[in-house]
Amino acid sequence: LLELHRTRRDGTGETLLHRLEHGSTSGVTIPMRLGVNGAPARRQCTADFKIRVIDKWLRDHGATADQPATLGMGISLDELQRMNVSREAYKVLAYPLIDLRLTAADCVALVAEAGLPPAPKSACWFCPYHSLRAWHDLKRETPALFDKAVALEAMLMQRQQDNGGGAVFMHDRFQPLSAIVGDQTIMDLTPEDTCESGYCMT
Ligand code: SF4
Repeated sequence: LLELHRTRRDGTGETLLHRLEHGSTSGVTIPMRLGVNGAPARRQCTADFKIRVIDKWLRDHGATADQPATLGMGISLDELQRMNVSREAYKVLAYPLIDLRLTAADCVALVAEAGLPPAPKSACWFCPYHSLRAWHDLKRETPALFDKAVALEAMLMQRQQDNGGGAVFMHDRFQPLSAIVGDQTIMDLTPEDTCESGYCMT
């Protein structure tokens, strides 16, 4: 199992969190909700920190148009709508879970049957695609991380406004996390808690 990391042209590493905290002031790169029109902000995170990183590794290790790499995507049968075809000749996308007719629940059961612990969610802890339920879970299970998400949201909001932009929020209720995530039980069961690209586990 290889863990790939993004590196800049000068060879130094860069994480998405570092870019958010220290990077360009020209807008957020994760899909925060824009208070102006409710739309998600332009999302560069998946392309810059997953797809390009994996593609570079494939090319560095011999993937060419004549000999394309096969990239197995982590998308299950109940996520058919997320299937895609590659636009780059040096890679071919494969969907082994769909070929095996496995749903996400089937995968969870297989992992349990094998005696392995359940796989953690693949999303970043600060992902604006989190449901309200997921934010509550983060606050309950890892309050320090939740506090960091609250601080990150406030910092990105401030930066956006300093640059003449409108408000940005981590959740589509268009209120800060600190205002909408309390200690009460939450009934929002929206399952949108993962990064939907399928590139997290390839
Ligand atoms: S989990 Fe969310 S923030 Fe992280 S890369 Fe995916 S879309 Fe971007």
